[in-house]
Amino acid sequence: MSGKHAELKDMNYARFIAAVSAARTESPIRALTDLMLRSPPSVISLAAGVPNPDTFPFKSASVVVRDGTTIEIGENLMKKALQYSASPGIPELVSWLKDLQKTLHNPPTLTYSPDKGQMELCVTSGSQEGLSKVFEMIVNPGDNVLLDAPTYSGTLAALKPLGCNIICVPSDQHGIIPQALKEILSKWKPEDAAKPERKSPKFLYTIPNGGNPTGASLTTERKMEIYQLAHEYDFLIIEDDPYYFLQFGKPWAPTFLSMDVDGRVLRTDSMSKILSSGLRIGFLSGPKPLVDRVILHIQASTLHTSTFTQVVTSQLLHKWGMKGFLEHTESVIDFYSRQRVAMLSSADKWLTGLAEWHSPSAGMFLWIKVKGVADTHQMIMEKAMQKEVLLVPGSAFNIETTESSPYVRASFSISSPEQIDQGLERLAMLIKEERK
Ligand code: PLP
Repeated sequence: MSGKHAELKDMNYARFIAAVSAARTESPIRALTDLMLRSPPSVISLAAGVPNPDTFPFKSASVVVRDGTTIEIGENLMKKALQYSASPGIPELVSWLKDLQKTLHNPPTLTYSPDKGQMELCVTSGSQEGLSKVFEMIVNPGDNVLLDAPTYSGTLAALKPLGCNIICVPSDQHGIIPQALKEILSKWKPEDAAKPERKSPKFLYTIPNGGNPTGASLTTERKMEIYQLAHEYDFLIIEDDPYYFLQFGKPWAPTFLSMDVDGRVLRTDSMSKILSSGLRIGFLSGPKPLVDRVILHIQASTLHTSTFTQVVTSQLLHKWGMKGFLEHTESVIDFYSRQRVAMLSSADKWLTGLAEWHSPSAGMFLWIKVKGVADTHQMIMEKAMQKEVLLVPGSAFNIETTESSPYVRASFSISSPEQIDQGLERLAMLIKEERK
């Protein structure tokens, strides 16, 4: 990839920072907490305002893993798990996750100097926290940003109130269409990026694998073309990839992070689909000057992701090692792969002639375009319940939810193959009645 760029961009990160983020300063107390956590036992700390864990009611914990082994959290570790901890995440989890990123993506930025966009990583309470803080870090009211709608409703919920101008980039079953992106960008000149009054787009947001709701996955060629455009027009890429570990085919697609020679990719990962959604563990990887800004925001909001959650996760990951973790993801993929087959064969059985769809190559969603129904909203919200089937109408993922959509999103995560079959049979009946 690096050979494709005539020269590396010297990134001016300051131009991406919104006023609210630029005004954030480090909390002196949080800095002391970090110092305290790293100090040897001989240091007497009268500085900290932390509570004494000996007063807490919990003593130890033992978590039984499905493979029959147990994670033991003894008294000492439990004291740590119940205490405040560093805002970027507990060091042992951060270093494990950095190793994971190196193994999976080998980001070129790992070897850069910190001010030149060296890759940094922090733990977040799910990828949603990382995303919403990244948006808040970058967006000033009136800024232009790019995304491929329809998209994840949580992204729209975080982004829309910030008052930016969302520019929709056309996409198909292989994700964003680079030529369409090029046409949108032709309104600007590459040198406009240095002129704030020209408001050239600050970032492109995309879900590169098993998109929610579309199930679409970007091809490697398209990613390379999109990265080249980002390089030319100097915008950031926000790679929201919670379905990365649910890719059905091998080899897994190279990520934007793996192509990031400039230091312009912010990647949000999630443990929600493979370890637990309720534990709330995600991680943000990207150029240090930007990740550090998100950490300042964490210092001012959650302080840090639950230490207990991080300790349980870290113990499991260290016990498994990278190999064990990847073996686990294989078993999860195996499950969703079978579910996908069940959904596709039921869709063939019941919806042929009534709707169209593409087989998703990652994730847990089938995006169904209903024929002859211009807007599925009323059909789903008012009539589907009577037929005892629930789906999400496509309009829920539009930038303007009042816009009509002929699509519905069907998930194959929770229902059994029999339920999936019955659910799609009911959807077929619903469509037939609606079209009458
Ligand atoms: N991004 C996308 C595309 C999602 O589909 C989801 C959850 O469904 C999230 C982010 C948030 O995930 P997390 O549980 O890691 O916050």
